[in-house]
Amino acid sequence: MQIIPAKTPGFVKTLFPNFVWNINTDKKEIYLTFDDGPTVEITDWVLQTLKGFEAKATFFCIGNNIEKYPEIFQNIITEGHSIGNHTYNHLKGWKHKTKVYFKDVLKTEKIINKFKTGTSTPLFRPPYGKFKNKQSKKLLELGYRIILWDVLSYDWDKSVSEEACLNNVVSAAKQGSIIVFHDSIKASRNLKYVLPKVLEYYTEKGYKFKAL
Ligand SMILES: [Zn+2]
Repeated sequence: MQIIPAKTPGFVKTLFPNFVWNINTDKKEIYLTFDDGPTVEITDWVLQTLKGFEAKATFFCIGNNIEKYPEIFQNIITEGHSIGNHTYNHLKGWKHKTKVYFKDVLKTEKIINKFKTGTSTPLFRPPYGKFKNKQSKKLLELGYRIILWDVLSYDWDKSVSEEACLNNVVSAAKQGSIIVFHDSIKASRNLKYVLPKVLEYYTEKGYKFKAL
């Protein structure tokens, strides 16, 4: 059962106008995002697959995983993709005090900054796409660009078949869409089937894949 729709409804976007749900562009561009990495075996496969299509993407990484796999994290940066903060412990914002949540976010920011070159606006995606108003307000105050999505692939859900996962993406993604995939073992069955097909499908239609 899909509780959250694969395509984010317009009214949800209107309720939270300070978050980035999709990119307003007049170019044929799509924004792929990969959450929860870096992950052994999966991330490098994702990087290779993207490279084959000259596609750039954005990786929302878990601080604890960056610490465990710094070489894989470095590979993401070296390949020219964007990096976003996804907390240190993949926290459920609504279950934690804002103070605790921020400690986790800032711990990750410190780790990311050790690798970061340049001064791009920091990106943040809340785990589960949910956090308290207070938490999002504070993130915006700190200058974070909060990235949600307009297309959810449901790649992590084992009850969703490879074909259904592909259909979640191609039936909903359009110019300027931000699509969520997962750089994780859990999602790997669907991801390995769907990602090359999505890259092929939109490349044939003249789209380019850009990092945020
Ligand atoms: Zn996540």
